[in-house]
Amino acid sequence: MPVAPAYLDNAATTAVDPRVAALMAQCLTAEGTFGNASSTHVYGREAAARIATARREVAAVIGARPEEIVFTSGATEASNLALLGTARANADRRHHLVTSRTEHHATLDPLRQLEREGWAVTRLTPDGEGRVSAEAVRAALRPDTLLVSIMHVNNETGVVQDVAAIGAVCRAAGVLFHADLAQSIGKLPTAQIADRIDFGSFTAHKIHGPKGIGALYVAAAARPWIAPIVHGGGQERGLRSGTLPTHQIVGFGRAAALAASEGAADAGRMRALRTLLWNGLAALPRVYPNSPLEDGSPAILNVAFAGVEGESLVTALTDIAVSTGSACSSASGEPSYVLRALGRTAELAQSSLRFSFGRDTQVVDVERAIAAVRAAVTRLREVAP
Ligand SMILES: *Cc1c(COP(=O)(O)O)cnc(C)c1O
Repeated sequence: MPVAPAYLDNAATTAVDPRVAALMAQCLTAEGTFGNASSTHVYGREAAARIATARREVAAVIGARPEEIVFTSGATEASNLALLGTARANADRRHHLVTSRTEHHATLDPLRQLEREGWAVTRLTPDGEGRVSAEAVRAALRPDTLLVSIMHVNNETGVVQDVAAIGAVCRAAGVLFHADLAQSIGKLPTAQIADRIDFGSFTAHKIHGPKGIGALYVAAAARPWIAPIVHGGGQERGLRSGTLPTHQIVGFGRAAALAASEGAADAGRMRALRTLLWNGLAALPRVYPNSPLEDGSPAILNVAFAGVEGESLVTALTDIAVSTGSACSSASGEPSYVLRALGRTAELAQSSLRFSFGRDTQVVDVERAIAAVRAAVTRLREVAP
């Protein structure tokens, strides 16, 4: 029987948990909850009730209130709503935004669009491990700064930003704060995080929920400062029009509830797998971590193998699903802009692989990966000019 590839690319996406899939299947066909949640008849009310439960579950994973959750198609749309929606709602007042060079494209690209529309954007350079200090954020603020956008956990390196300290700086200065939470839910304790931020983006498929559903947390106090970017039937308190996808939202709700109840145990197992993997890879010469080994996300380990092309390594590792960076940018073949911003040379950035773990990752997957990577790195270094 052929062996399935070891899947160590959970930061790109995760498999839907069977408990989530079972619930989603109840919301599709004629025997199930197929109604439109905006309809007032019994079918609609049944869908609305299930969505209300899911909204409570999604809110609870970040410590928000249910009415502060706006369902979107994912973290990309949530971040677009947070950035474009606040900028355009305040265009006559403030014209400056602050972010970092190592954000996901879901943040960088809407900010680039706002620049084209006349906004000023400051992009902070993190330190050598990828951290942006609250002090650096404070120093970047101007009298016309509207919003700061800094991610909680970086999707390529797993570095964790001090969201509480950055949030405190923003609050003291009267500046809005948006945090991309896509990689922190289910991996770090997030049950209090809503208190620290005004807006937070996250997505179901990174926590064993379905693709195509996510949320923006909009703190009640921040609601007056944001306007919709999608217009129509007025769902989601006017912030995101469109018929609510019951099966997606119900799946997101169950995935969030599982992240809340099992996330700490999952994270403990992932941390042990990460240590196992690092110890196995560090036995090779000239191997350098791009992830903070002490306090980074338990789910991500990014490693540079000097003298080896990352893409050649991925190609050689046919039985191991890993990536050279984010799934979104690895197609370009360019060295990772995240690793470059940390001061890594183009050569070392191009020699890096990201390994990432999920609820299903087993010790045997990691052991297979260690053996395969060691063999491939040794062989590729031998044939290198
Ligand atoms: C995956 C991811 C996103 C985008 O999520 P989608 O569901 O694809 O929209 C945004 N930010 C980070 C940090 C991510 O890891």
